Amino acid sequence: MFSFRYLLQKLRARNVLNEEDELAAIAVYDQGESVIDFLLQRLPWKEPEIKAFMSLIYSMELFQDREFLIDRTMLHWIDAGLSAKLRILPLSMKGNQIRIAVDDPFSVLLWQTVEYELNLKAELCLILRTDFQSLYRQLYNCSAPTFKPISTMSTGYPDLLPWQIEQEQDELLQILEQASDKKATDIHFEPLEHALRVRFRIDGNLILHRMFEETKKANFVSRLKIWSELNIAQQRLPQDGQFQKTLNDEQIDFRVSTLPLLYGEKVVLRLLRKNQSLSSLEQLGMTENLLRPFESLLRQPHGMILVCGPTASGKTTTLYSALQQLDRESLNIVTIEDPVEFHLAGIQQMQVNDKLHATFAKGLRAILRQDPDVILIGEIRDRETAEVAFQAALTGHLVFASLHTSDAAGAITRLLDMGVEPFLLTSTLSGIVSQRLIRKVCPYCAKFEFADSRFLEHYRPHSHYEIPHRFAQVGEGCPKCQFHPLQGRMGIFELLIPDAKMHKLIMNKASLQELRSSAIENGMKPFYWDGIEKAALAQTVISEIIPYLPRRDATDCL
Ligand SMILES: [Zn+2]
Repeated sequence: MFSFRYLLQKLRARNVLNEEDELAAIAVYDQGESVIDFLLQRLPWKEPEIKAFMSLIYSMELFQDREFLIDRTMLHWIDAGLSAKLRILPLSMKGNQIRIAVDDPFSVLLWQTVEYELNLKAELCLILRTDFQSLYRQLYNCSAPTFKPISTMSTGYPDLLPWQIEQEQDELLQILEQASDKKATDIHFEPLEHALRVRFRIDGNLILHRMFEETKKANFVSRLKIWSELNIAQQRLPQDGQFQKTLNDEQIDFRVSTLPLLYGEKVVLRLLRKNQSLSSLEQLGMTENLLRPFESLLRQPHGMILVCGPTASGKTTTLYSALQQLDRESLNIVTIEDPVEFHLAGIQQMQVNDKLHATFAKGLRAILRQDPDVILIGEIRDRETAEVAFQAALTGHLVFASLHTSDAAGAITRLLDMGVEPFLLTSTLSGIVSQRLIRKVCPYCAKFEFADSRFLEHYRPHSHYEIPHRFAQVGEGCPKCQFHPLQGRMGIFELLIPDAKMHKLIMNKASLQELRSSAIENGMKPFYWDGIEKAALAQTVISEIIPYLPRRDATDCL
């Protein structure tokens, strides 16, 4: 296939195509209509000039052989109907390669028909429409199809005039800028029955930004799809892509995903900031009693360190803050991620790409051939990745990885379920962190309330933890917090360091409850209790912790 966008680029460079027409051409192409028809209408050039230009940039012959001898056996391959429909003429055949004169080399249908249905290799040359018609008449002995320009300019911008596009673009850019200002992590464009709702995710909560009139639904979506090079015409299947913008001097990667819903397509943008500054583990909320053992794990030359939690629980941030502490001058540190979320000087970062089949497992094997000391694996999702990762840890590498489980003990059962050998876990696993993100409260205006000790007694993991007498509540706001008492987030953590007893349980493939109570017995403070203590210290409020308390039936086993 020839890249149609390449032609548009070249035409833009020649100043014969403006931006609006370029976007409209992409829309025409995405809808499967003839782009040659479109260009003939919009360009100041005539057909011979356009085709000569295409012939030049794609090194494709322009068929002009007046003495050409018709080969009627070619009719078997492509009959008059197909020829007229696809605007192609079969010229000759060599082996399984068919030489075809075409009006529109970008026609997807052409390629599908010739290469997949006829199972032939196509060699294309361009042909002028008048030559096409005369050759067609000679080959099929019937009157040639006429070339009618497409009647309606359907362009993927319903009811949108070209001059309006600029305005839409400004409005959309404004939304992105405001989201970036407010430190949003995601932007949701949600089609409602008679409106478009835009919400930002800030500090983990979805907050309404603005409602827009219904007409913006399709316009914003089309624009976002063009930026991220998605198919505008495809509105029934989910798609994903990305684009970059520099907003307020900061370069931001936008990950784009679309989802067809009842009232239109929903688009979610995830913002990835390139120059995001990294916090220390302490700033993330690791308290002294957890920080010290965790940092000693970082000083070991090999082993496996896992960070667990659900999506958006801050796992990557913790992993990167840990990497930041390592000696990046003398160690070879390599990461493999999907997507790369932070940029850290002195380390090498690799992006997983499913479309190019660069999976975690394959990437990891490639990394291992490059003499790494420390490896960070964005996420262990499958058995293959898990096995390569644990082998790497066993053979003298320090390996960091994240895992999608709800708590530290759950990571062990999850890996065993994936098929990782118990001895691999016991011989490599240095520590497992599990975490959640909670909102911070302004300590200057926070109020306090007395704690319900009977309620808390039920959740106390071990008798040696003291039950707090009081908890912070959200205050009214004060000048110190500029009257936003809940601002920013911190982590609540638990750290499981397997001991001999734990090793035995792993070898026996013990249950989740057994692993969990053994970890607590051995000194692991569950992350929800870390949260309870933080609420008592007015770092957060108790309502932020309630959702993370274990279900009652589960606590019975603790
Ligand atoms: Zn305050």
